[in-house]
Amino acid sequence: MNDANRLALHSVDAAADNPLLPLLEAQRAAFLKVGPTSYEHRIAALKRLRQAVVDHHQQILDAVDADFGHRSRHETFFADVIGLLGEIRHTRKHLRKWMRPRRAGWSPQFPLAKARIHYQPRGVIGIIGPWNVPVLLTLSPLIGAIAAGNRALIKTSEFCPRTAEVVTAIVSQAFTPDEVAVVNGGAEVAAHFSALPFDHLIFTGSTQVGRIVMRAASEHLTPVTLELGGKSPTIISDDYPLDVAAGRIAQGKLLNGGQACIAPDYVFVPTGRREQLIEALRAAVSRSYPTLAGNPDLTWIVNERHFERLKAHIADARAKGAEVIEINPGGAPLPEGERVLPLTVLLGVTDDMSVMQEEIFGPVLPVKTYDDLAQVIDYVNSHPRPLALYHFDDNAERTARVLDQTVSGGACVNDVLFHVAHEGLPFGGVGPSGIGRYHGFDGFVTFSHQKSVLYQSRWSVQALMRPPYGPRLERVMQLALRWL
Ligand code: NAD
Repeated sequence: MNDANRLALHSVDAAADNPLLPLLEAQRAAFLKVGPTSYEHRIAALKRLRQAVVDHHQQILDAVDADFGHRSRHETFFADVIGLLGEIRHTRKHLRKWMRPRRAGWSPQFPLAKARIHYQPRGVIGIIGPWNVPVLLTLSPLIGAIAAGNRALIKTSEFCPRTAEVVTAIVSQAFTPDEVAVVNGGAEVAAHFSALPFDHLIFTGSTQVGRIVMRAASEHLTPVTLELGGKSPTIISDDYPLDVAAGRIAQGKLLNGGQACIAPDYVFVPTGRREQLIEALRAAVSRSYPTLAGNPDLTWIVNERHFERLKAHIADARAKGAEVIEINPGGAPLPEGERVLPLTVLLGVTDDMSVMQEEIFGPVLPVKTYDDLAQVIDYVNSHPRPLALYHFDDNAERTARVLDQTVSGGACVNDVLFHVAHEGLPFGGVGPSGIGRYHGFDGFVTFSHQKSVLYQSRWSVQALMRPPYGPRLERVMQLALRWL
């Protein structure tokens, strides 16, 4: 037996031991039996999903709140409920058009032929979700998967067990287990899950676990979409109004307790504007949160481990010489037991501090200064490519320079976060912040196999190229050299 065969057998055996394999096999058998589903079938599935989300929206608000200790109900409503319903609506509106084979254009080598790209369902899609937006980030990939005619298995995060129950209830109301099923559990279940021979696997989570998932998927050459994290820089220009920039940055850094993959991670401000920015941040936080203690609009840090992790970043920065400014409007002490961190600005940060090495994922905001935009561009380019980049500037030339000379998954000019919510924009990272993209049409394409089909004409140029090759083909070759 050669090495390739031995390896192939090994991966089949590994899958055969997998306790989750029967779930996948049932879906794959149903997929092969039924074949690609019609437009009407997919629309009906999306309507059932929509109804199940609406029916469970109160349970979603309660469960996420309980899992976080406290999560603003309004934030859950907008991020997890409205986010999903908006995506379903957009997909229902455009699906008929998306499903049509796309013309590939005319080619001089095939003057009378037609070329089309057909979108075929891939089969069974695996979806692994994180805890930070636990309903949206498990069910939003499902929308694209269903729209493309697939079946799906979902793995929820073990950090949100109550939410996982609600996601399971939503899926069970809308689908049979051979259409969509949910798997709940910790790291061991997660490892079994990512070892399944899916037709496509989408993972949302940390870069570190993303590497493990990609390694597991490579056993079966399962294609992956990795939606990861990173440190998203924010740049403020010389003349952009600081009150506007500070309001938007504070919103982005405190929404969900700063626990968002695209939260602004750190800020670059011109040297002479740093003190004004801090005052503007103070004013912005005070406007939104007149007091922090017991404030229902503030989302807690999800668990003790992450709370301690953030405090350790602050302690490490302080010990290495950073100035620490806590913005706590009203000044009331934060009650013991509430996992709330005030927006904590760090000045004088350096790259040897842990806060400048790891994704922060909380309301801690290092503020760096610059004198020349080239310095900022160099800094961004000498660090891992981020998931998002934010640039506050009304000057089109400088903005174009930043966008052209840096590489990030996405970018937002004069705001933070909200590029993620525009249905027309694909969402995804680059390099260590992710592989692939989804949302809207791009989700449909990600979960489809794009089959290239050439419809050859009765008369074809290629028929002229058969042996015996002779002087006639020599002439064609000379013509081609001039013409192509
Ligand atoms: P995580 O990587 O710890 O966990 C994500 C999921 O992976 C969970 O369901 C977990 O059970 C599973 N998992 C854990 N070990 C595994 C293994 N060995 N094999 C397979 N799966 C495994 O991430 P998290 O803490 O839940 O989420 C926070 C991270 O996610 C941050 O880095 C954040 O930036 C990122 N994130 C990215 C996006 C995005 O769209 N790009 C969105 C939200 C969060």
